[in-house]
Amino acid sequence: MAIQRTFSIIKPDATKRNLTGQIAAKFEEAGLRIVASKRIQLTLAQAQAFYGVHAERPFFDELCEFMISEPIVVQVLEGEDAIAKNREVMGATNPADAAPGTIRKEFALSIGENSVHGSDAPETAAEEIAFFFSGLELVG
Ligand code: UDP
Ligand code: MG
Repeated sequence: MAIQRTFSIIKPDATKRNLTGQIAAKFEEAGLRIVASKRIQLTLAQAQAFYGVHAERPFFDELCEFMISEPIVVQVLEGEDAIAKNREVMGATNPADAAPGTIRKEFALSIGENSVHGSDAPETAAEEIAFFFSGLELVG
């Protein structure tokens, strides 16, 4: 597997509880390098656009309201097999199902307020990175 880049969000429940550093440490311990990072607060329109794939799901409105409720930290992670590795470090969507040692097992509050987002495939990783970062912000 080659070196990949993936996109990550440290979500409002985690920034609010001052967990940014502890979550970043999980990425670094897993061999993922944080090659870009910024703290921002989404507008409702931006949250709806980012999660557009879930627009028809029953949790969509609640998810978007949650994602704009506090600042978030958006990051680009790089490493060997980064997309799958990040999903592994994140753990299952529902923290009740997440494996021990994963971010969601240790920090998530619920299936909605689950501390992190991570891209699920190379295509979505490229789209999500481009949604938040310009080429100028991405060093080689
Ligand atoms: N979500 C939710 N209820 C659900 C499923 C998902 O509130 O029943 C939220 C949760 O914050 C999740 C996000 O919607 O992280 C996106 O869902 P997805 O299925 O893509 O999960 P993920 O890829 O984040 O594990
Ligand atoms: Mg997803």
